[in-house]
Amino acid sequence: MPEHRFTSRARRALMFARREAASEGREQINAEHILLGLSQVGEGTGYTLLQRCGATTEALRRRLPHLDAAPSITSGAEGFTGDARRVLESAHREGRMEGCQFIGSEHLLLGIIDGRTTRAARLLADLGLDLMRYRQYLDDARQDAHATSAPGWAQATGGASPLGQERETLADAAAVLPEAPPAAPRPEPAAASPGDVLEEILAHNEQFVAQHPEVPPASHLPTRRLAILTCMDCRLTDFWEQALGLHRGEAVVVRSAGGGFADNDSPLRSLAVAVYALDVDTIIVMGHTGCGMSQISVGEIVGKMSDRGVSRDRIPSSDARAWLGAFTDVADHVLDTVDAIRDSGLFPDDVAIHPLLIDSDTGRLSVPTR
Ligand SMILES: [Zn+2]
Repeated sequence: MPEHRFTSRARRALMFARREAASEGREQINAEHILLGLSQVGEGTGYTLLQRCGATTEALRRRLPHLDAAPSITSGAEGFTGDARRVLESAHREGRMEGCQFIGSEHLLLGIIDGRTTRAARLLADLGLDLMRYRQYLDDARQDAHATSAPGWAQATGGASPLGQERETLADAAAVLPEAPPAAPRPEPAAASPGDVLEEILAHNEQFVAQHPEVPPASHLPTRRLAILTCMDCRLTDFWEQALGLHRGEAVVVRSAGGGFADNDSPLRSLAVAVYALDVDTIIVMGHTGCGMSQISVGEIVGKMSDRGVSRDRIPSSDARAWLGAFTDVADHVLDTVDAIRDSGLFPDDVAIHPLLIDSDTGRLSVPTR
């Protein structure tokens, strides 16, 4: 079987497929497992197409045992049955025809449909998803994605960036997060002490480890060769990764107050490590709407530091604003930070450095310009 390169969503679909096979006590993944896996990815084109024709995981599980069709062929290689191998080969062919470097979830879905006589293909045909409908759905999905993609992204990345193929993913991400709830208003201060928080985290972790015995291993080298410098704002946590379509193992992340850096500040050092030790070739500086660093009172912070016993000579009172990294306009700040990284002299010209803004409430991305 040729070497296949998968997008992160396709990899997740295959990871779920492996679980499906394991749950049946099988060592090899068949086409039905891949279909069930695709139905669990939760985002992306292949998943969306399945949802549109009612092929939810539950619906598939209900229908599969009752299908009058050829059972999966059990001979195969490398953990895949013969029919699953044909799904991958067909997906690979389709991806190549589209000029894609990676097999995406939509290519896997096409590979299943293309199987025709397999139970998985028969099931999709019963649900109305044949090759013709697939092409039509795919065109619609791509037009939707194109219509909602961030304006200026292609220009900003020169169209040929390593992220070029991910433009659709960025648009997809905005499409699957249309109604992200605004971050909750600040809660009343809890009576818990910092020690209680640690105990809660440790208790949660016991559960997490018990529930996830098979976390797939990941390399410390980011597979997308990408570093993101962004703000430490808590509203971005568990949110921005989904909005950008990034998963474990794909990018390194540097976070700081405001997503920038001041003199001798460590984000610049971290970015240098990312480029020279972790093989990163693209840096994205991502600001966010409503950033607290555009609203803080420098005088108040310096006053509090002093009140709580920080020695005056530790606080650079002459330029506390620059030391804290406060700014007025987040778009300008992002563009200034991109310039400052470039002007630092630490990075060669072949490292791409892009500005980006994320809406803290909706996750929608835009590319700031001067
Ligand atoms: Zn912020």
